[in-house]
This record gives sequence, C-alpha cells and structure tokens, in this order.
Amino acid sequence: MQIQRSLFDDFEIEKKAEQPQQTSKKPSGEEARIVELRETLNRHNHSYYVLNQPTISDQEFDHLLRELQDLEAKHPEMADPLSPTQRVGSDLSQGFKQVLHERPMMSLGNSYSIEEVQEFLRRAKEGLGNEPVEIVGEMKYDGTSISVTYENGRLVRAVTRGDGVRGDDVTANVITIRSIPLELPKDMDCPKKFEVRGEIMLPWASFERLNKERAFNEEPLFANPRNAAAGTLKLQNSAEVARRGLDAYFYFLLGDNLPFKTHTEAMDAARAWGFKIAHTEVLDSIDAVADFIARWDKDRKTLPVATDGLVFKLNSLRQWLNLGATAKSPRWAIAYKFAPERECTKLKSVSFEVGRTGVITPVANLEPVLLSGTIVKRASLHNEDIIRQLDIHDGDMVYVEKGGEIIPKIVGVDTKQREPGAEPLKFVTHCPVCSTALQRVEGEAAWVCPNKWECKPQITGRIEHFVARHAMNIDGIGEEVAAQLHESGLVNNIADLYDLTVERLVGLDRFQLKSAQRIMRGIEQSRQVPFERVIYALSIQFVGETIAKVLARNVHNIDQLMSMSAEELAAIPEIGPKIAQSIVEYFAVESNRDIVERLRWAGLQMALSEQELASRTTKLEGKKIVISGVFQHHSREEYKAMIEQNGGKNVSSISKATSFILAGDNMGPAKLEKAQKLGIDIINEDQFLDMLK
Ligand code: AMP
Ligand code: ZN
Repeated sequence: MQIQRSLFDDFEIEKKAEQPQQTSKKPSGEEARIVELRETLNRHNHSYYVLNQPTISDQEFDHLLRELQDLEAKHPEMADPLSPTQRVGSDLSQGFKQVLHERPMMSLGNSYSIEEVQEFLRRAKEGLGNEPVEIVGEMKYDGTSISVTYENGRLVRAVTRGDGVRGDDVTANVITIRSIPLELPKDMDCPKKFEVRGEIMLPWASFERLNKERAFNEEPLFANPRNAAAGTLKLQNSAEVARRGLDAYFYFLLGDNLPFKTHTEAMDAARAWGFKIAHTEVLDSIDAVADFIARWDKDRKTLPVATDGLVFKLNSLRQWLNLGATAKSPRWAIAYKFAPERECTKLKSVSFEVGRTGVITPVANLEPVLLSGTIVKRASLHNEDIIRQLDIHDGDMVYVEKGGEIIPKIVGVDTKQREPGAEPLKFVTHCPVCSTALQRVEGEAAWVCPNKWECKPQITGRIEHFVARHAMNIDGIGEEVAAQLHESGLVNNIADLYDLTVERLVGLDRFQLKSAQRIMRGIEQSRQVPFERVIYALSIQFVGETIAKVLARNVHNIDQLMSMSAEELAAIPEIGPKIAQSIVEYFAVESNRDIVERLRWAGLQMALSEQELASRTTKLEGKKIVISGVFQHHSREEYKAMIEQNGGKNVSSISKATSFILAGDNMGPAKLEKAQKLGIDIINEDQFLDMLK
C-alpha cells in the first residue's frame, strides 16, 4: 500500500529545488523582516489562543499581519503554506486525499460507574503482574479526533481518524485553527518527528453563533458541537473553516524513541511546545478517581467546549507498551461516560410562536437552569401530539435534556411535584397574533394560521427570508429590524424594501446612519442577484433553494412561470404536484402579482441572464451521469453545475441507465465494481472537460 503524500510534501520539494538561487542572493532587510514577523505573530497567536493571555491588542496584531501580507506579496519566493497569513484559509475547493495512519487510531473502552473503573484497574494491574499503577484523569472532549504530524519543527500533515486505519488529509483546514502551532519554537529541542493526537472542537459559543446564522439562512442546523466540528473539518472551503472558529485540545503524543517515561511528562512537554493540552491530573487512589468524577460532572458544565465524559489512563508509558491493545481499544485507558445531562425545572408558561409559513410552534418558558454550559430558559415542545404524550400540565416541574439536540427539549414531567388542580396544557385554537382560527395541516401534527398575507409574523418572516444570505443577501435586516420596518409602516411586503431611502431609515427610532447605509448598499446589490435566488426569495411554499434552481433552469423567466398551469409545472422533473399547486396558488393572489411587478420595476433579475442562457449547451443532452471520487480542477458542486448547464442530468447511483461515470481520485471500490459489471464508461476529469470544449 502506498501512503499518499500531502500537498505540503510537494511544496517542500519545490522549495528545495529553488534553494540554489536563493543562496546566491543576499537576504534583504525585508526578507529578514518576514522571518521576524512570522515568529512574532506565531508567539502572539499562542498567547491568545492557547494561553488565553493576549499580549497585544487586536489592532496591533492586524497591523503586523498586514505588514507581513504586504511583504509576502512582494516576495513570492518566500511563500510558505505555514505562514501566519495562511490561517485565513482559501476559497479554492480541495479534495481530501486518503492517508494511511502510521499507528492506527483506536477508540476507547467505555465505563459508566466507579465500579467499572475499578474493574478496569484491576485487570490492568493483573496484566502487569500486579505492579503498582499511577492513574491520570482527563476530560473526554466531545469533538472529532485528529492526528497531526510534525517534522523538523513544522506541521506536515493533519489527518482525521477515518476508519482508524486510514483517514482524510485535512491539513489545509487544520492550519486555519489558530490554537494549533504551525511551527514549533526553535529553542525547545522538539523531537525531529512526532505525532500529536487530540480533538477538534467547535466551542459552545461558536456553535451557537453558527446555528443562529444557519437558522437565519434556513440551512439545516447542527445537532451538537461534535457534528458541527466534524462537518466543518470536512468542508471543501478552508476560508469558511477559518471563519467558524474551531479549536483543538490534544491528549496523546506519539513517536519513535521519545524521551518520556510518563504520559504527564509527555503532555507537559507538548504544552511547552505550544499545544493546547487537555486538563490532566494524577490521581493516587480510587477515592481520588471518585472525587475527580464527582467534581468534573459538575465543573464541566462551565467549560467552553462540550465533554461527554472523562478518560482514565495509566501514567507509565512502559506499562502502555506492556499491556498493548485489543482489536478495538488500548488496555491502558478507559473512558468514563456521564449520564446525558438532564435538569428538573419549573414550566413557567408556554408561548405559541408563529413562523414565516404560519406554523404554530409551542415553546416552553422555563425557570432558568444551567445545562451543558449554557443557561436554558426556553425549550421546544414541538407540537400538540408531543404535549399530549408527555401529559404536561400548567406549572409542572419538567425534565429538560440537551442531548444530541440543538434546542433543549422537555423529556418528562415529575408528576409528584404537580400542583393539585393543575390543568392539562391546552393548545391554542386561534392565532396568538391575528386571532384567526387555526387549521390543522392534513397528515401532520402542525397547526397553521391561514391568514398568510395579513398575519404580522408571517409578513416579517417573509421579509427576513427575502433578505437572507442565500436569498437576496441584504445585510443588516434581522428579526428586530424587520419587525421595526413593519411596525413603522415602511415595509409591509418585500417590494416595499425597494422604496426605502437612507432618510426614511434614519427617521426610525434608534436607527444609525451607518446601518441605514449598509441596508441601502445591500438593497442596491440585490438587483444583481440571479433569477433562481429571486424565485427562492419570494417565499412560495415548498419552493426551497433546490426547487428554485430547477424552476429557473427550466422556465427561464418570471412571466412564463406565472402563466404556467399546475399540470405544466408538474411535468418538470423534480416538481411534484404539491409544489406545482403551491406555485399556482401563489401567483393567483393578486397582491403577489403586484409585488412581482414592483420587484421587476425595481430592477431585480426576473429571467436567467443572457450569459447563463448563452453558456447552456446540449452537449450532454439525455445523459445520466454519476459523479464519484475527489477532483483536482473543480469541486463536485461545480461539476454538477456543468453537467446541468450542458443539458445532462446528475444521478446518484449507478444503474444500467447510467451514461457514464465522471470519476476523480479514490472512487469508491463498490461503485467501481458495479460500473465494471454493468460495463459503464468511466471518464476522468480531463476527458470530461475535453467533452465540453
Ligand atoms: P469513543 O469514540 O466514544 O470510543 O471514544 C474514544 C474517543 O474519545 C477517542 O478516539 C478520542 O477521539 C476521544 N477523546 C476525547 N478526549 C480524550 C482524551 N482525553 N484521551 C483520549 N481520547 C479522547
Ligand atoms: Zn395569524
């Protein structure tokens, strides 16, 4: 088996080849300054992101960083993928190469009680001929594991756990994580080559910010920080990774002939080299272990990152070697898992909230409790059926959990504490905002307010949707501003946005000139937003981003779309009868047609652009194409778009009907076998690009 080399190995080779020229030139002051700035910035980075002790102000940091950027631009021969300027990532999409781990990445055995930990220790001692053992306790960080290799003081490769034997090379993403050193201090005498293992984490604060943003943009939310960290680490766009604010905690140091006798010694050394190291404590008795568990079960709730338990390890590295591992996990370490966090608190009241589509969501208002590091005041009650199932009564003491879910949920009621005479919780029958009688959606548990065009939260919800990033991308109008615009009478529907002026905005209560200008800039730029996003922005029920794209590609302009019958619409691939009906209903409402006219008048894109129409070909007409593997020249998404642009169709699984497979590196073995069996052509990237020329 061949180990894939990372992009940094290639870079090393290029650099070496260049060296003879470099030595013949005398280093200028600027070159020396580049080296100095890199060291300085790395030092400040460490103080800020690892030690939590900023040594200079953010402005000073930015100033130095800018100086370095300018100098690097002037001296392309000094480029370095590990320069602090590279922490911002890049928009170029990357495929991930698979890399074989030098040492397999194992999981840990689990325990759920002090007795099980005791049993683990007994077995370990027995395995060691009853010699004494020293135990180390650590947090079990609930993120996604990573292996990072350093050679000659520089980070060379970062690889995910994958299946334990091989993982994905995610180096380009990992170097954007500011707490991970890219170069090690030169005066520290670090081993020539070693590997650190740890956990990539999305801290609670970043997780919540990310989900809030995603909710606003109507993107699917991450269920927990672990999923968010794993998802982020596998993004194709490292600039987006940099923006999300990952962090990393390390807990293993591996290498040949490392000069350490114990795990704690190794961790102390790694800390000194600049790594953020897991909290590590030597525990001298089983009582100390029990104390450690009791203490951290409480204190972990105040940590900035998610933990799902503790890890106990023997301290002696010789004992690690002697005990070895089973097929799945080492015999010298064990995880201790906490029970999922649950708190009992009082249900103060229930609010019924009306969403953009009129769906009513019951939300529990709780006596505040601390849960997984955040104060919880509200919890979702989902729908009427769930309220019935839980048999919630007014003023109940309820159990709240924040397990894998995004929003804490109520999982039960303590009926013993129920006030005598408390009534079962009643679902509202009328819209809490506009008082219209609610309707139950056929086949679903949801109730909706049918007063689509006059119910305030539905109006402001549509405004918020219209301005969202994936729709018209108009900055500066959040929930509050949307409500303010509506209340002041300035904006009653999305078309009114185009009558706004800076003067009208600053006339509003507490409105800053700067925010007004920002909004007006966004509105101006929204006139260039492509047709498909305009369709999406209209808030036609069931027309999400994907369906909007399908409509734009098939229907080409708004007039056509408005005049089509449900049957005609349903004849378009991917458009079902429910969506077709909803589109027809939308355009049947006169005020909606008015809005479209006003938007057209305001200069929005109401048709596919000339360019898009012109670049469409029929070269792949009638072809069903499967994409597989990792590509060098374009991202998968770009290839998908190219296929559609040229009249082809993307399909996900291989069948006899598949025309060909566009295959990059590392095509899945199962897919390959199936393709060969069915005799389907496999086309590589270059051949495909040639086909489109
Ligand atoms: P599990 O995936 O539940 O079997 O747990 C094993 C995983 O816990 C390891 O693969 C690590 O990614 C993770 N882990 C988190 N914190 C630690 C720690 N302090 N020591 C070792 N592994 C840890
Ligand atoms: Zn209503």
